[in-house]
Amino acid sequence: MGIKEKIISLGSKFQTDDIAKSYPLDYCIPVYHAVSDGPLPHLRNIIQYKTQKEFEKDLDILSRNFQFVSWDEFKDFHNGYFKPKKKIALLTFDDGLVEFHDVVVPILERKGIYAVNFINPAFIGNQDLMFRCKASLLIERVAQMDKNTLTTIPGIELTHDIKKLLISKIQAFTYDDRFILDRIASHFKFSFTDFLIDYRPYMTLDQLHSVVSKGFGISNHGFDHPLYNTLEPAEQIQNTVAGHEFLTKHFNVESFAFPFTDYGVKKEFFDEIYKKEDLFCTFGSAGLKLDSVKKNLQRIPMENGKDAAQILKEEIAYFKLKKLLNKNTIHRK
Ligand SMILES: [Zn+2]
Repeated sequence: MGIKEKIISLGSKFQTDDIAKSYPLDYCIPVYHAVSDGPLPHLRNIIQYKTQKEFEKDLDILSRNFQFVSWDEFKDFHNGYFKPKKKIALLTFDDGLVEFHDVVVPILERKGIYAVNFINPAFIGNQDLMFRCKASLLIERVAQMDKNTLTTIPGIELTHDIKKLLISKIQAFTYDDRFILDRIASHFKFSFTDFLIDYRPYMTLDQLHSVVSKGFGISNHGFDHPLYNTLEPAEQIQNTVAGHEFLTKHFNVESFAFPFTDYGVKKEFFDEIYKKEDLFCTFGSAGLKLDSVKKNLQRIPMENGKDAAQILKEEIAYFKLKKLLNKNTIHRK
């Protein structure tokens, strides 16, 4: 545990159990990717997704402290037309994974909770796989391999840590390095295409329509899930607009959620995108934080191995600490 984690964990112990009362904002926006009871090889090395039981426990904790709202209620609330009984929660998912259709939607229908899924047109219907999922699959492959076969990679010596070394290299590849993952896969005779055909990790367009017909939302997560702070300003706009334009042909798209993080994204991006597209708001995932761009709302990542109560208590403790230091707002220039 690092210093920051230690402080947060300690701070969370002094939080009251009344999360609703100590929660400093009037809205809470949790973000998930998948829910599954089985091993998902393309996710399990990059995301600590929850089981159905863990997810339902989170929903119960959130329901006790907040009032879940639909997208229209969320907009009305921010426009001052909707007066909720409690602080509100908007449930969000990212990446358009098939578990949303197969596992999450049935749970949410049973509980009467709305959610919106932010998706990348490049992956709809399993045309391609996001590069971090490719990394997860290669890590699975390396973990299963005979150590001796790995020594055939030029420049890598046989040590007992060879698997660890290779896995840490694969973990570190960025969006710009994504084509290296394809080369490693072909070296290991692993086919991402076969995986996409066999496994079908993403929702198809039909499944997206079916989810929308049940009252859930689909919105924009960029065309192919780049890391925005590594793109030129014009590329940031291009990727966002490409995603928005594709999705508006099928769905009512009024928002955008940054893939990975909005860290390092400048004010000019927001000025430009709000000029170009009719957006109600944008979403980051920096946890409980304010943003100098008022229409950019930060969400709370829920997949770190802890339950919703612990995550919220830690976020509240960290928010209060940063408030003392005047650091609970992201300032963009
Ligand atoms: Zn994503």
